[in-house]
Amino acid sequence: MTRKLYWEQPYSQDFAAKIVGSDGTRVELDQTLFYPRSGGVSCDTGVLVGVKVVETSKEGDKVLHTLEFPASLALGQTVTGRIDWNRRHRLMRMHTAGHLLSALFYSGAKCLITGNQIDVEKSRMDFSLEVFDRTQIEGFVKEANKLIANDAPVKSYFLERSEALKIPEMVKLAEAAPPLEAQLRIVEIAGIDRQADGGLHVAHLNEIGRIELLKLENKGKTNRRLYYDVANT
Ligand SMILES: [Zn+2]
Repeated sequence: MTRKLYWEQPYSQDFAAKIVGSDGTRVELDQTLFYPRSGGVSCDTGVLVGVKVVETSKEGDKVLHTLEFPASLALGQTVTGRIDWNRRHRLMRMHTAGHLLSALFYSGAKCLITGNQIDVEKSRMDFSLEVFDRTQIEGFVKEANKLIANDAPVKSYFLERSEALKIPEMVKLAEAAPPLEAQLRIVEIAGIDRQADGGLHVAHLNEIGRIELLKLENKGKTNRRLYYDVANT
């Protein structure tokens, strides 16, 4: 299992690790700061042993780093890596913004999230809502931006599964049940939202800046789609 340094130190950019597996281009380390693509969230890129990491993926409980060019690497060798911080921080802002929006959609209209794609350029959120009311949705985005301006701490911690599932709003994803683990990782926007989540988030809401609603689509029946971006204030 790869130790998840990205959970322990989400604001670190450089790290050292040992190679535990490699076929030349796909490298497994004993620990990593590179967040793997998962749960609809894009991955970290960066540099490992001086070579670009173009993709980070998950295979079971292993994190695999895909190098742009093959490198000659020895098992047990200590290497250094650095993540692309600008990309990572945008992904963190986008991800926390998604949680904030989903919390407001849920409390304001009992919307369930049916899909999401958190990415660097723009992010997408699919949700179910009986009546497609543009003004109502724009109102949620406005409210989100007010909460961001007021700021609130965002933290992550672990809870026993049975304890976590007692919290009614814990899992807002319509189809995704929480993973079958004894402990669930919780991401909490203080006073606003709690989610079972494996992702990386900003430590303070105001790091998001401002959420910009890019596009709203009516996908028929009760399916709606929202594209958003985060901008500096
Ligand atoms: Zn999330």
